[in-house]
Amino acid sequence: MRVNGIGLDSSARFTFQSHAHTDHFVSGKIIFATKATKFLSHLRKGGFYREVEFGKTFYIGDFKARLYPAGHMLGSAGIKLWLENGTLFYTGDTKWFKLRTAEKSRFPRADFLIIEATFGVPSFTFPTPREAEKKLIAFIEEAFDRGRRPVLYVNQMGKAQEVMKILDVHGITVKPSREILKVARVYSKFGIRFGNVERDGEVVLRSYRSPKVENSLSPWELTVSGFGRLKLSNHADFWELVRIVEKVKPEKVFTVYGFANEFAGILRGLGHDSEPITPDAQVNI
Ligand SMILES: [Zn+2]
Repeated sequence: MRVNGIGLDSSARFTFQSHAHTDHFVSGKIIFATKATKFLSHLRKGGFYREVEFGKTFYIGDFKARLYPAGHMLGSAGIKLWLENGTLFYTGDTKWFKLRTAEKSRFPRADFLIIEATFGVPSFTFPTPREAEKKLIAFIEEAFDRGRRPVLYVNQMGKAQEVMKILDVHGITVKPSREILKVARVYSKFGIRFGNVERDGEVVLRSYRSPKVENSLSPWELTVSGFGRLKLSNHADFWELVRIVEKVKPEKVFTVYGFANEFAGILRGLGHDSEPITPDAQVNI
């Protein structure tokens, strides 16, 4: 989107990149992002990034701005902008519950909210990360009991490192793919260390394949995703999204990505002024 000419995960002269997943990559004269997002993005792309710390006030174009941790992956951020007719908060990809390898999310009050709606319908109700973690460990222990080596399919950036950390805490060694390991090395620079990587690790981690593959997986293979069999998600589920809206207390909500139309309709039913927008929308506030 562009809001008053400022890019939000959208290319513009001055733009904000919320996190390092490739579908949020942008180009611009100056890209504002956290240091972790800059380092992780540089694994894949160039671009002039201006590092911004969480909670510090800065200016993007003519507007005052501040970043808040989004809880989606290391370095992920939402942005609050002080515009002519009120304040706006854009969540980026976000998570209410705390993950082990992402900063704890925070959501400020704002007059206008742009919220992601990847899982914006009630059929997406996930276990909490702690509950999902127990299921993951149970799956792995059962495989071990039967003499099998489990294989986990994970998004190579973010989810893979979260799973590595969970297994590290539980004393289980991993054999990650080369791409997953590259990202993990950047995480280590930011103090998130993994003591369980071994050439012959007990659990194999491979880059995430589309959920369609699910049917062809063996009983000891698992896709770890909100769309997969084990719903350890780094996105807010439907109820987390509703909690975020209630926390920000906006006068108007714009929904974007995924189930944007449906989520906007549900919010209207709950009494909110809400409308869906597309990722390339131009909004003026
Ligand atoms: Zn993302």
